Amino acid sequence: MTKDSFKLTNTLSRSLEELRPLHAPEVLVYTCGPTVYNFPHIGNIRTFIFEDVLVKSLRRFGYAPKRVMNITDVGHLTDDADEGEDKMEVGARREGVTAWDIAKKYEEAFLDDLAAFQLETPEIMVRATDTIQEQIQFIQELESRGFTYRTSDGVYFDSSKVPDYGKLARLDVAGLQEGIRVAVGEKRNKTDFALWKFSGEAGKRHMEWQSPWGVGFPGWHIECSAIIRSTLGDEIDIHCGGADHIFVHHPNEMAQSESVTGKPLARMWLHSEFLLIDGGKMSKSLGNVYTRADLEERGIDPLAFRLFTYSANYRARLNFTWEGVNSAAAQLRRLRQHYQAVAEGEWTEVLNSYQERLNAALADDMNMSVVLAVVWEVLNADLTPREKRAFLEDAGTILSLDLGKQENQGIPEEVSRLLEEREKARADQDWDRSDALRNQMADLGYHVKDTASGQEVLKI
Ligand code: AMP
Ligand code: ZN
Repeated sequence: MTKDSFKLTNTLSRSLEELRPLHAPEVLVYTCGPTVYNFPHIGNIRTFIFEDVLVKSLRRFGYAPKRVMNITDVGHLTDDADEGEDKMEVGARREGVTAWDIAKKYEEAFLDDLAAFQLETPEIMVRATDTIQEQIQFIQELESRGFTYRTSDGVYFDSSKVPDYGKLARLDVAGLQEGIRVAVGEKRNKTDFALWKFSGEAGKRHMEWQSPWGVGFPGWHIECSAIIRSTLGDEIDIHCGGADHIFVHHPNEMAQSESVTGKPLARMWLHSEFLLIDGGKMSKSLGNVYTRADLEERGIDPLAFRLFTYSANYRARLNFTWEGVNSAAAQLRRLRQHYQAVAEGEWTEVLNSYQERLNAALADDMNMSVVLAVVWEVLNADLTPREKRAFLEDAGTILSLDLGKQENQGIPEEVSRLLEEREKARADQDWDRSDALRNQMADLGYHVKDTASGQEVLKI
């Protein structure tokens, strides 16, 4: 595997491209972070897992990724556009605390999730509220170049000044403009967006700052442009986020940054598709905005969810079901059993060709379902347990599934073997065999219980 053969789908060109970093081996990566107004949901987590696999793959292929993530703790409004309320202030009202308390609480929750899903902490994490001055300066630069205008409620970016505005989303800007039926308020163009918003009524907001234009707070997009510039520079290699960012947030970041620097903001734009729940959108009214706590309540190891996300390419929508994540939990247990079957791995030559295939799948737009298929092929092959463990140790650096975690601790080998057999019987829906195996384990002094996350054994 050579460095130049890592291919990724660039949303900008809509095609598979070889990664060509500006200053290899360094790869400058920016990933839009969480809005810390509530617990991250498993859709957010899917996007963070994709970004984590990306960074780990880069390292595997000999690159030195430098990754920055922002924490959005101000300015993200409820409708993603410029109407609606700041999500932080909504959170504050919901919980009867200040927006600052909300930011602190949910930033901590996000950090806990990083650990629980084995997501590497980005090298540099920056809060939007810690970079207000940088954001103000950025807006001033845009202002001095003639890209801004004022309305009664803020300072806006004039998207008509950017001839290729919307190129990422392939927006038909002219069509959009003609098709406007609803009022755009004082905005000159439908695609214009807020850079700075005025607080309005004094004392209404918890988070507000002085600025050359009046007391207020930054628009949602400017934090990323300012943070990228101050941490990574004018031009970066890879910019990531969820697919919803293709249409508003990323075109706006791009317009702001490129209008100031005159350079392309990022060479590659990668987007992970949405996680759907039971075939539909996550929504509060349906009560299906699931978080890590919901997984754990049902006895699902968060890493089983991580494994579940590998069943589809990051660019494909993925449908979450409890059945699907339960079967991922059973798979995870089997992977762990293989890994723990021996204390040490032994790499032998026969593994090289499997490793090459795993790398090729990873280099092909991070095709994780093929990566997994190669892993299972190794585990089902006529190889020694030590060879299998060695392969899992290597694949584990990408999979990040904590394979050494002991689930059914201290169980005799005979019972472990029966458990595995029973898992197979259950998968084959051979209930008679499954009951017979349960009785055998009872004879050995172990009671087996079927839970949402699979079999659990208790000493009788
Ligand atoms: P937010 O906390 O809303 O700023 O979102 C954090 C990240 O999660 C962003 O990259 C979003 O694009 C992404 N995201 C939001 N909803 C989903 C979803 N249902 N599936 C996958 N990614 C999502
Ligand atoms: Zn961003």
